[in-house]
Amino acid sequence: MSACEHKNTKKGKLVRTFKGAAFEVDGLVCQDCGAGLWTDELSKHFHKWVMSQKKQRIQYQMTPEAKECLDRFISEELPNAKPATLSKVLVLAFTKLVESGGASVFDKVYETEQFQHFSQGERSEKMQFDIGALFYLHLEAISNLYDQSVNEMAFESFHLMLALFFSNDPELKKYWTECIMPKLQELLMAA
Ligand SMILES: [Zn+2]
Repeated sequence: MSACEHKNTKKGKLVRTFKGAAFEVDGLVCQDCGAGLWTDELSKHFHKWVMSQKKQRIQYQMTPEAKECLDRFISEELPNAKPATLSKVLVLAFTKLVESGGASVFDKVYETEQFQHFSQGERSEKMQFDIGALFYLHLEAISNLYDQSVNEMAFESFHLMLALFFSNDPELKKYWTECIMPKLQELLMAA
């Protein structure tokens, strides 16, 4: 089956939703398949609208060991950072990496002992933080790709980043120092 080329269009309403709220804009709708034609310009309007929506709460439970690792990471690298803010920034950095095509580095992180460890044991430590609606939209797109809920995706990306930091692999260590750390500092300042 070949994809519709949207040759037969008519003026109409394009609709996209975010957390139950609808965004409507005038545009072109394909008469053959019903798809709305989202141009870059219209997508920009949509993203602008999303930015004006309220922040979204992210929450997950982690093991006491993961919490300990987070605290150790803070005291060793970023002593002024608050745990929730740093967690948010770790997830944000992960999202940006995936979107810029850098997800393959995490194939190796999945295999590390550190990462395997984080999913074992009782998850008794609560983590929660609020993120901007546009960030949420991006995270949601990635979680759809991995077939997970947004909170599960946040949980996983947080632990992948933490495991990357604690990894003993020289290549991963180099990647962390050169690519992740500068980005984290930048994001922390903006957070
Ligand atoms: Zn079509």
